Amino acid sequence: MNKIEHIGIAVSNLKDANQRYFRLFGVKPYKTEEVLSENVTTSFFRLGESKIELLEGIGENNAITKFIKSKGEGIHHIAYDVDDIASEMKRLKNEGFEIQSDAPKIGADNKLVCFIHPKSAGGVLIELCQEINN
Ligand code: ZN
Repeated sequence: MNKIEHIGIAVSNLKDANQRYFRLFGVKPYKTEEVLSENVTTSFFRLGESKIELLEGIGENNAITKFIKSKGEGIHHIAYDVDDIASEMKRLKNEGFEIQSDAPKIGADNKLVCFIHPKSAGGVLIELCQEINN
């Protein structure tokens, strides 16, 4: 793994959260995007080399709405940048981590992604992401 790619924060209202983070950071999100495979809308802020992703659920049937219902708004996942997501998935599976999908999925911000279940990672939801080269 190369570095923390971004930190994902679950929010109940993305518009309000974008305003709040604009007041906090002094910059606007560089992108807002619907990820229909996950039923979420996301926005991304860049601070130097660091990125923050805000996520709002669309409707009821998605991980973010469920997360907020049980835990409230807050840090949802930490995402790590990898060069070869398929081989990292294989390696981590062999190490005993529970990967939530058999194959990488198309995620937000032009990335291939997968998630590691917090049960197998000390209570932290981990996202792996690999930049898609166009
Ligand atoms: Zn993420």
